Parts: sequence; C-alpha cells; structure tokens
Amino acid sequence: MLTNRPRGTNDIIPGEVEKWQFVEDVIRDVCRTYGYREIRTPIFEHTELFKRGVGETTDIVEKEMYTFIDRGERSVTLRPEGTAAVVRAYLENKLYTGPQPVKLYYIGPMFRYDRPQAGRYRQFHQFGVEVLGAHSPGIDAEVIAMAMEVYKRLGLRGLELHINSLGCPECRPKLRERLKEFLHTRLDQFCPTCQDRFERNPMRILDCKNEKCRALAAGAPTTLDCLCDECSAFFEAVKEHLEDLGIEYVVDKKLVRGLDYYTHTAFEIMAPGIGAQSSVGGGGRYNGLVEQCGGKDTPGIGYALGLERIILTMEQQGVKFPPAWRPDIFVVTACAEAERTAFKLLSKLREKGYKADKDYNGRSLKAQMKYAGKLNARYTAILGENELKNGTAMMKDMNTGEQQEIPVDKIPELLGGK
Ligand code: AMP
Repeated sequence: MLTNRPRGTNDIIPGEVEKWQFVEDVIRDVCRTYGYREIRTPIFEHTELFKRGVGETTDIVEKEMYTFIDRGERSVTLRPEGTAAVVRAYLENKLYTGPQPVKLYYIGPMFRYDRPQAGRYRQFHQFGVEVLGAHSPGIDAEVIAMAMEVYKRLGLRGLELHINSLGCPECRPKLRERLKEFLHTRLDQFCPTCQDRFERNPMRILDCKNEKCRALAAGAPTTLDCLCDECSAFFEAVKEHLEDLGIEYVVDKKLVRGLDYYTHTAFEIMAPGIGAQSSVGGGGRYNGLVEQCGGKDTPGIGYALGLERIILTMEQQGVKFPPAWRPDIFVVTACAEAERTAFKLLSKLREKGYKADKDYNGRSLKAQMKYAGKLNARYTAILGENELKNGTAMMKDMNTGEQQEIPVDKIPELLGGK
C-alpha cells in the first residue's frame, strides 16, 4: 500500500516530465499568440456545480465523480472537467463586466472514477480553453484552429477533425420528436440506460457506446436533418472559416453532446491508430450553460485536450521531444582544498545562467568524472592544487576528451558566453 499509488493515477518522473514541460510550453505559447489568458480554479468545487454544469444524465455525473462529504458536512467533488468551474469563476468574479469576450485557458488535473486502461486514467490532465461572451461563428473557427495549431506545433500528424452542429433550443424539440418516433418502435431492444434516457433525453441514446445500441440507432434522424435556417447558416459560416484557414474537417452527424445547453458547433479530434481511446480532444458551443449556472444568457464555446493521450500519441508517432536536462558544466575537485573554491565557482556559473552541478557525496576524482558522464555534462572543470594556485580550471570537453587549462573567468567564453 505505502509504495503503490492509487489505481488509475501516474507519477510523472524526471525523464518523463520534460515531455510534459515541452507540451505545456507549446500550449502556453499558442495561447499567448491567440490572446487567451490563464485561469486557475480550485481542484474541488461544490458537487452541485458539476451536477448543473456537466449534466445530471451524463456518465461523468452518474458514474464517475469523486464526491465526498467534508468535515463541514458539505458535499464536494474533485473536478471531473474544467468548463463548469470556469463558468462559475466568470460569474463569481464578474468577468462579464469587463470587455467581452473573455478568452481563458487552463492546464491541470481532472478526476473521473472510470475503469483505467491505456490512455484512460482516474487522475488525468487537461488543457482547455473557454470563450465567454462571443456569439459569432468566427470564434468557433478560432477555437478549432487554435486546437489544431497546438497539435501541429507538437508535431502530430494524421489527425482527423470531426465537426457537427447540434442546433439550438428552437430546432431541438423537432429533433426530439423525430428521434422518439424513430426509436420507440425498437426501444425494447436498447440497453436499460438508453431505455431510461428515452423520455429524459433521447439525444443521449445516439451517444451510447454499446455496439448493439449503435447498430439500432444507425439511420436515426440527426441534428443536421432538423436545423433551423439560422443554425444552418451558422454552421455554414463555421465551415467556410475553416476552409479559409485551410483546416480539413469531416462532418460527423453522429457527434452529439446530448444536453440542452450545448448548441451549434460540436467537434472532436481523433488520432486514428492509437486504439480504443482515440479522441485526443473535443469541444463545442454551450450557449445555455452560463444561464444554467445562474448567470445571464451568455454565449460560450470551449475545448479540452487530454495531455496523457497527447503524449502517448506523440510517442507512438515517434515525435522527437527536446533532450532531457544536462549540465553545461560539472565542477570536479581533485583535492580537499578545492572544495570551497569549487562551491563558489559553481554558484557564479549558476548566477550567469549556466546549468551547473558538482558532487556532494565525497566521490574520488575518478568517480566524479564517471558521475559527470552519467549526467551527460558537456564540460567538466577540474580543480586541483595547481589550478587553485593559478586561478585556473582544467576544462575537459566530455564529447571529444580534449583538455585545456584556462583562467576561471574565461570559462563562460568557452561555454559559449551568456
Ligand atoms: P471530455 O472532457 O470527456 O470531452 O474529454 C476531453 C479529452 O480529455 C479527451 O479527448 C481525452 O483526450 C481526455 N480524457 C477524457 N477522459 C480521460 C481519462 N479518463 N483519462 C485520460 N484522458 C482523458
């Protein structure tokens, strides 16, 4: 127990963490160029927020939440996703009083009690963006373009962008009726969950992962068959913008988010060939969510990407990550008297911004050199009696094995200057 982490969680250790830092750096850089600012919300929230903001009939709320009663007898939940909390923060901090839209992004851990498998964990990390207060189709295209830019900058290839339109509260009742008409003749053959959803939320039936239900629902009327003129025009405009930006997409009529506050654009990005968990990100418009969470009618659109799955896909596609940390210089002492000089030299080099290190375990000269080799140091600076007397260091290029004695103040020059 003491040396086992909880099922479905991961340690990200040195060697791995550099990959994460690289991905996060790219994300932050893309966000900066698109004008999205970071928001950090709590890891846990009142349970009610997720029930309202994610939806009572979703798998997340029905089966996957880490919910507990705290010492003050309040029900709190570890966040299973980012959108609800961002909407809450938008309202609570009155971000609607500033210039609109508010473009936000977050990176952080999420928690879902699901059956762990490759690419699916109980604690995982998402990068997500949310735009609140913009209703034009251009912003839908921008959010999608930004997501695709992140994948591109990370070196991912062969991704498929699936898009759909879910309509609006005007066209939704028509779909509901047509769907129910289609489904009710064969309802007894669907799984119990689908049967249960028939009255409450028939659109969710199109979302069922069960193969038999999928086959039964094939040919069911889709949102695109029922769009009102306004929603059709909106969807056309989003597609046009994507085409203008040279972004390829597939219209996927089966892509649904079966909750009333999802409207218009829904999209998902798939990495074919990474197995069952092939979705590397998804999002959509949620014009009804802010109101659902207690605010005024405010348009919103967002997107979230799973970092574990991104890194897994990058590994599978053989993407080159930047090299791991290595010291520019490792200071080696060849006699006990050199210890204090070595320590001061190390500190000076670090001050100048060099990646520098030394031994702290009283190793012999030979063992220090071996250790420097293991750390993959570019140079070692050896300080012995002679060097102390002369104010110099014996510099060894660890690649070529070449050695030269130089004054210590010339070391930065040799390292390439800073
Ligand atoms: P969702 O919030 O369910 O739309 O998921 C958005 C993205 O988060 C997915 O495309 C995945 O990349 C990732 N994701 C969702 N659930 C998990 C999980 N349990 N483990 C790892 N990644 C996940």
